[in-house]
Amino acid sequence: MRIGQGFDVHAFGEGEFLTLGGIQVPHNKGFVAHSDGDVLIHAICDALLGALALGDIGVHFPPSDDQWKDCDSSVFLKHCHQLIQAKGYEIGNIDCTLMAEAPKIKPHSQAIRKKLAQVLDIHLNQISLKATTTEQLGFTGRKEGMAASVVCLLKPQV
Ligand code: MG
Repeated sequence: MRIGQGFDVHAFGEGEFLTLGGIQVPHNKGFVAHSDGDVLIHAICDALLGALALGDIGVHFPPSDDQWKDCDSSVFLKHCHQLIQAKGYEIGNIDCTLMAEAPKIKPHSQAIRKKLAQVLDIHLNQISLKATTTEQLGFTGRKEGMAASVVCLLKPQV
């Protein structure tokens, strides 16, 4: 088995929703990003890549490449998933934590998990999503952005 971890941050800017796990979550701000800014999917991608020492999302999808501008991050996730499958592994489980003062994630967490499970073709109980504030401390506490931390376990395909 192999373990991987991923971390990502995106700043808030103008906008009316945040794309999280491929779902649009209504908010009074959006993400400032080259892609759709899906901080959760980016951290999951880095966890999958990290588990097999395949580099990071910036190596596979360079922000300098206009091909990825405003790209749906589900495309990144599917690509990373295909890479680990090609190496003979499958997902055991993925555990995610979002850090932000706002918006509240709980009302959207089931929809986000369902979407991620669908994109990755895994069961709902293989993808966990938690959320926390940082007690009004730091950039997340000042509502300047959101952070995501993810751990995944990969197992050899049977
Ligand atoms: Mg990112």
